[in-house]
Amino acid sequence: MTDARNVAVLGATGSIGGSTLKVVARHPDRFRVAALTAGRKAEALDRLAVHWNPDYVVLADRSDPPAGRLWHGEWRYGSESMRWAAADPATPIVVNALVGFAGLESTIAALGAGKRLALANKESLVVGGSLVLEAAAAGGGELLPVDSEHSAILQCLGDRPTAEVHRVILTASGGPFREWPAARFASIRPEDALAHPTWSMGDKITVDSATLANKALEVIEAHLLFGLDFDQIGVVVHPASIVHSMVEFRDGSTVSQLGHPTMEVPILYALTAPERLPNEFRSFDPVGSGPLEFEELRREDFPMFEIGVTAGRSGGTAPAVYNAANEVAVRAFLDGQIGFTGIPALVEAVLSTIPPTPVESLEHLVAVDEEARSRSREIVGTPPATRGDRIP
Ligand code: NAD
Ligand code: MG
Repeated sequence: MTDARNVAVLGATGSIGGSTLKVVARHPDRFRVAALTAGRKAEALDRLAVHWNPDYVVLADRSDPPAGRLWHGEWRYGSESMRWAAADPATPIVVNALVGFAGLESTIAALGAGKRLALANKESLVVGGSLVLEAAAAGGGELLPVDSEHSAILQCLGDRPTAEVHRVILTASGGPFREWPAARFASIRPEDALAHPTWSMGDKITVDSATLANKALEVIEAHLLFGLDFDQIGVVVHPASIVHSMVEFRDGSTVSQLGHPTMEVPILYALTAPERLPNEFRSFDPVGSGPLEFEELRREDFPMFEIGVTAGRSGGTAPAVYNAANEVAVRAFLDGQIGFTGIPALVEAVLSTIPPTPVESLEHLVAVDEEARSRSREIVGTPPATRGDRIP
């Protein structure tokens, strides 16, 4: 008889999915991989299934069944199977490591079914906002952040209520263009944006870190997770990514959480909090790590930050529009259809045509997401001569 708890890893073939499996592998007495899901990479999912032998796997893309698959367990397909995996009563812990809006239904399904949700997919919380929090309240689900900054804040808060918090300070690495003059931004190529100085991550979040859209998403995430006003959430650039964030309490004491940059620590904490399990880690060396440096965010040069926070403050459907336009813009940038400075131009253009309204339901959000995507695609697909000068 084992006490291991079933875990579903959604997005198992990705960066966070892979780190989650490494963490889980160290604790076979505590965790059992019950379900693995992937978007399109059938072969990669097949290999993981052979290794982990879960109860079933889900491939979101129905049109991509693996040819000559090696694992002969239960294969499921499509988005309804993804939702089903998130809500399966046999699995008390769900890790949502999907990327983008595609993770929203799984987040709501897991929380609505009373799961512990280790949430890496910040987009689902940012877009879903109150719908996600209501699903957690109604279903009894627990929402634990995997994002390193929010894990840091959770750890710094301990058991103290938000009322005792004066403000939080999120740290940002600053991304690969922290020291580039803005005049060079138009020449940025996808490979420049994909070369992150401190973190190795999936393509989408790596580009978001380069534009600082990621930090705007994280400000909104902090607002929702901890019930803080936007004015209580500061951001500072910290290139070494050692201080993961800070909480300044109302008595003047500032508490921070430190460590070498690895997602395995926040992933493990999301699985076990408030308990701390033994882990393999590189010990923090205060002398060897060098000076801890902080600098201001270059808000004017990285407009995706301010545009995103403004969308967060507007609330309602604005974060969904921001997110959808950003997802299309990032894809278009990686595909060479728009330049780096075209990302904020596209997102601003789309936000200006879709005024925010209160979120009514998940179906409403799906419709808004689709509308924002099709507006974005229209702009990207428009020949340069008729685009005006908004999209460089
Ligand atoms: P990734 O691209 O490496 O992996 C994404 C996973 O989701 C893959 O398994 C992919 O198959 C699956 N997927 C993609 N589209 C899908 C779809 N439409 N339907 C179903 N499955 C789909 O991404 P990542 O870097 O692991 O990031 C995952 C999430 O975690 C993102 O929301 C990101 O912002 C967040 N996050 C990542 C890191 C990091 O270090 N990578 C750190 C903090 C937060
Ligand atoms: Mg982060």
